[in-house]
Amino acid sequence: MTTESLLARRERFLGAGAPLFYSKPLHIVRGEGAYLFDADGKRYIDMYNNVPCVGHANPNVVEAMARQQGTLNVHSRYLHEGIVNFAERLTQLHGPTIESVVFSCSGTEANEVALRMARIATGKRGIVCSDGTYHGNSETVAKLSGLRRGQLPSPDVRSFPFPELYRPVVPNLAEADLVEAYLDRLRDAIVALETNGEGFAALIVCSIFANEGLPDVPQGFMARAAEIVRAAGGLVISDEVQSGYCRTGRWWGYEVTGFTPDIVVTGKPMGNGLPLSATAASKSLVDQFRAKTRYFNTFASSPLQAAVGMAVLDVIERDGLRENSAQVGAALKAALLERKPRCAAIGDVRGQGLFVGVEMVKDGASKVPDPSRAVDMANRLKDRGFLTSNAGVFGNVLKIRPPLVFSHSDAQQFLAAFDATLAEING
Ligand code: PMP
Repeated sequence: MTTESLLARRERFLGAGAPLFYSKPLHIVRGEGAYLFDADGKRYIDMYNNVPCVGHANPNVVEAMARQQGTLNVHSRYLHEGIVNFAERLTQLHGPTIESVVFSCSGTEANEVALRMARIATGKRGIVCSDGTYHGNSETVAKLSGLRRGQLPSPDVRSFPFPELYRPVVPNLAEADLVEAYLDRLRDAIVALETNGEGFAALIVCSIFANEGLPDVPQGFMARAAEIVRAAGGLVISDEVQSGYCRTGRWWGYEVTGFTPDIVVTGKPMGNGLPLSATAASKSLVDQFRAKTRYFNTFASSPLQAAVGMAVLDVIERDGLRENSAQVGAALKAALLERKPRCAAIGDVRGQGLFVGVEMVKDGASKVPDPSRAVDMANRLKDRGFLTSNAGVFGNVLKIRPPLVFSHSDAQQFLAAFDATLAEING
């Protein structure tokens, strides 16, 4: 089937407007490790997909999935050792305040659980989030997603400007003063909820502000923010859907930005493609949530989720993928930073571990975002066999977020393609 006829059938049967990457969409048929193969057999280095964190078609995960599905897979209202073992192992990846887990099937669902958990525990409804963020697609969490600066989506949600050094909310401040400026905005959001009758239940953030554009966060901001939230009687929710599972070279994004959450939400990479997400917190928070909601989710907390989730953790630990993420990511970022002084269109290079953003601008001095250049880069890189995309509040950040098995050799090949693409664009 040609790409054109598949496109036409897709539009016919999935509806027009279902999102697709690239000006010439990619028709892929197979994946292996950090590579994807198209219908013509061409190989692409996958530098975008974080869900297959231990690699596409990982044999250990495939084997665990098949074995469990061939043995037993039911809903969660029976005793089964696997899911208890998996929950225990997940809690051990955090500090002592994270004790119990509620499983679900998507980041959206797990964030909904987190919001409900916070609202039940505090008896308040108000949620503070950062502007420009994304926490999911249901009506509840969509209210927190994609907010423009100052936008008021509903009485129970207030946002504050996401913290960043590159385009700071107040220009020309020393970093410590900038922290205070962002904290003032956070306090304003909390006070707005306290005074409009909703009360303040929780702050939710992606711990590395990934969808906002992976900013460098002013040093110490998140630790102080967590203190302010707790002093106001609220809870701190860390959305680790993108930032968790060694993406940053550490297990959790909250280790990078330096705070201790009350509730941790994980998703995407947990099942290497099997829908699997979790909301983890203290036993007391989880007990209150369970007592009030009797939460049940048909496909969640199943023997299949447990077996696959365990296999993913086994591979990460066995193959040293956290260390790989830290080392390959650091080398890649350093190499991209080296290119910045030579190229006015590279405004900034940011990120940690295997999550790097290259901010494309009209020129380094004006910092005017250049989303069309980022899109052009992604399209041209794809033609050269490297899959990236664009992200951030302006859509001008080239987003590099490969499976954790991405190697130094893959990075070298990418850098050559990156240079060739820039040279091509700059003529
Ligand atoms: N939180 C964050 C930070 C995300 O990036 C996403 C998805 N991009 C979600 C939540 C929602 O996850 P899901 O698509 O699995 O519902």
